[in-house]
Amino acid sequence: MEKLVDAYERKIDYLRMSVTDRCNLRCVYCMPPEGIDLADSQNILRYEELLRIARIAIGHGVSKIRITGGEPLVRKGILEFLKSLSEIPGLNDLSLTTNGVLLKQYAQNLKDAGLKRVNVSLDSLKRDRFQKMTRGDNLQDVLDGLEEALKVGLTPVKINMVVIKGFNDDEVIEFAMMSKVKPYHVRFIEYMPFNTQEGWQRDKCISAKELRELISKVEPLEPVIDSSGSAGPAKRYKFKDAPGEVGFISPISEHFCGSCNRLRLTSDGKLRTCLFSDNEIDLRTALRDGSGDEVIEHILFKAVAEKPSGHRINENVFKKCSRTMSLIGG
Ligand code: SAM
Ligand code: SF4
Repeated sequence: MEKLVDAYERKIDYLRMSVTDRCNLRCVYCMPPEGIDLADSQNILRYEELLRIARIAIGHGVSKIRITGGEPLVRKGILEFLKSLSEIPGLNDLSLTTNGVLLKQYAQNLKDAGLKRVNVSLDSLKRDRFQKMTRGDNLQDVLDGLEEALKVGLTPVKINMVVIKGFNDDEVIEFAMMSKVKPYHVRFIEYMPFNTQEGWQRDKCISAKELRELISKVEPLEPVIDSSGSAGPAKRYKFKDAPGEVGFISPISEHFCGSCNRLRLTSDGKLRTCLFSDNEIDLRTALRDGSGDEVIEHILFKAVAEKPSGHRINENVFKKCSRTMSLIGG
């Protein structure tokens, strides 16, 4: 079967599927306090539609799928969906990104459903700051969820921290040190420009290089050499003898567009070929008008052909994305 390869010879083997635009938190960098205008539930792709897309994409070389949202664990039937997804031959890596609020109660069932690993978003270890950041009082739930994920073997358990200057950058060392105590992969992510009420300012974004230097001053970091051949965008390090790792993801200061292997599907059935581009290709219509698989295939190939060479955040022409991360599926 023909593989999905874009105009720049990048092999597209990673699909991120958003299963909902709903969320049980309201992070300041992602949503306004009252939430966002949710799509009519009719417009959200049904599980069987998502499975059909996954099957077709896997048939054309996709081997990794990440489930995201909104908050994927709030969608009813998520476990049954993951089980069906995990059983599709050719899918080697099934993961999920969650805010962790419901993770403690779901972890074992997620593992049983065939999920390999989780990424948990956590931006502060201080209860009042967590509350300010997420507009929810769930820090302990997230910490319990992380423990449970380790316990049931959803590993590596990655902790994603979005670092915002003047807001949570004073906690970077404490987060890095979590990798010395438990086998967490703590990853620092640059704050990115989306359409949020709070607004994005370049000077609130701390570069991965600055963070790496800051941590290395406290304790040296050794690079982790990835021999699997499936290295992601994170630059990986560890402290000597630590069970976990520290990683840096720098979409802004040192972008990794040249090796981007991703395609995104929004919960309302649009393909996005770049996180930062508003170019969307509609799949939902074809899924619902009786079209055959060859039409879905054609749309997937068309989207891949339109994938831009890279984002333009660092150019003057760049406009913030009109959708927030919760709508795109981060
Ligand atoms: N609700 C889940 C969660 O929070 O993990 C999954 C969806 S959320 C949109 C996915 C990721 O996007 C989270 O790690 C979140 O921190 C990140 N995110 C949202 N807005 C962001 C921004 N402006 N800059 C950087 N990361 C952002
Ligand atoms: Fe919800 Fe995740 Fe967005 Fe926070 S980042 S509001 S948890 S979708």
